[in-house]
Amino acid sequence: MLEFDRRHLWHPYTSAVDPLPAYPVVSAAGCRIRLADGRELVDGMSSWWCAIHGYNHPALNHAVTTQLGQMAHVMFGGFTHEPAVGLARRLLAITPGELQRVFFCDSGSVAVEVAIKMALQYQAATGRPGRRRLLTLRGGYHGDTFGAMAVCDPVNGMHEHFAGVLAQHLFAPRPRSRFGAALGSGDIGSFEALIGAHAGELAAVILEPIVQGAGGMWFYSADYLRAVAALCRRHDVLLIADEIATGFGRTGRLFACEHAGVAPDILCVGKALTGGYLSLAATLATDQVAEGISAAGGVLMHGPTFMANPLATAVACRSIDLLLEGPWRERVAGLEAGLAAGLAPFAAHPAVADVRVLGAIGVVETHQPVPVAGLQRRFVDAGAWIRPFGRLIYLMPPYVIEPAELAVLTAAIGRGLDLLG
Ligand code: PMP
Repeated sequence: MLEFDRRHLWHPYTSAVDPLPAYPVVSAAGCRIRLADGRELVDGMSSWWCAIHGYNHPALNHAVTTQLGQMAHVMFGGFTHEPAVGLARRLLAITPGELQRVFFCDSGSVAVEVAIKMALQYQAATGRPGRRRLLTLRGGYHGDTFGAMAVCDPVNGMHEHFAGVLAQHLFAPRPRSRFGAALGSGDIGSFEALIGAHAGELAAVILEPIVQGAGGMWFYSADYLRAVAALCRRHDVLLIADEIATGFGRTGRLFACEHAGVAPDILCVGKALTGGYLSLAATLATDQVAEGISAAGGVLMHGPTFMANPLATAVACRSIDLLLEGPWRERVAGLEAGLAAGLAPFAAHPAVADVRVLGAIGVVETHQPVPVAGLQRRFVDAGAWIRPFGRLIYLMPPYVIEPAELAVLTAAIGRGLDLLG
């Protein structure tokens, strides 16, 4: 199997001829991932932010199998169904601000594409066809499709591979003010200048609220986010919040916008939406945006084949209920304390530039890029599933992780750092 995989399967962001090693996995339950050779790893990744309740959860399994007995899929053009309506009800009840309209799609990247389309169509339909550009922050990440890539960080975000093809947007510097601190002097200045100079050509500002994820795992000041939202209002530019990574409690609030009391015009969610069971995302909008697009008979030009897939929407309903029924706030706060205590000693390590923790996210930033394959082998040998990238070794475990399991993860990072000298 491994030979065939190596010869024929493409894995994320890796060479086709000299790929990073892939570990064969046979099952997963709770916070444990079982490899084909019988070893069991504690999950530090939640499978890229999504498996918040752990794996093989009886309630989520039940939601999928119950729905499977009714229908696995049916087109959303011309049909509707209870799982989709139920999920929209739940999302509108828990998301920040005045969001009233829900568009379901297949993945986070597509949710971002849809958000961008909404902003462009809204501006054109409301008599401002010249507003075709976006303003965003350096250090951001919004997905791998072309519209999304164009607003990823221009240096570390794949732009070099697609020069001449990506839409040309505007980038403000990465916020310097750290989460928990007030807005540093001058930190919002460049953003303010950009939005002021270009408001007439801007459809929207798009950003990851509070936590910039795959672009650098950076946590920034809620004051910065508040200032951005106020500037968007002042210049009549839409605000798109990409909460695909941060949504559903990961930062200690249900949505990261809540840290700043900010109400976006458009919101993207994904990843943890289905508790990690199936690919599903959603783009939510205010009535103002939806009604603007639909003025004079306009329609939003998007409609994926698997839109509002019944299996995915059913398990998402159950995942949200499970989250809200349980003590997620306490669990994430407990994880925050556990991560802070477990990672703090590494700040003194010579290879380490910074250690930071927010909610159920713990980050060890190194001075130099890490050797991914060697480091990961060491983590696996220590019984931990941790996937570093660039200069970042980070943990975002399922919320249900036990303290002893978390200790396995933090100890593994300690052993990994020894490898870095
Ligand atoms: N936005 C953010 C903030 C993300 O973290 C990601 C995924 N890492 C995406 C968008 C893209 O989501 P997907 O991989 O589901 O397309």
